[in-house]
Amino acid sequence: MALTICPDCEGKVSQSAKACPHCGCPMFAMTVEQTGKDWKIVMIVAGVMMGVGFVALPILRLLGVSGNEWPWILSVAVLVLGFRLSYFAPIGSLWPPG
Ligand SMILES: [Zn+2]
Repeated sequence: MALTICPDCEGKVSQSAKACPHCGCPMFAMTVEQTGKDWKIVMIVAGVMMGVGFVALPILRLLGVSGNEWPWILSVAVLVLGFRLSYFAPIGSLWPPG
């Protein structure tokens, strides 16, 4: 059984407990888990976007698309956006809900 730390009294609390047995502080482990899942989806989306960017750029180069044409700019934008999402998602998963 995994233990977590109560944010109020810093006592050890089972992750499945709905409230801290020491001080009665309500635990929102379920909500945190749900938030973590949402951010996991963001991570997957970010990974896909980076994957698409990484694959698209060499293909565009092979096709002879120059750097200032929209497919190139779009691929770079997707790559950068995916990178930024993957950078912010782990921080976001640590944010308490609400
Ligand atoms: Zn407590």
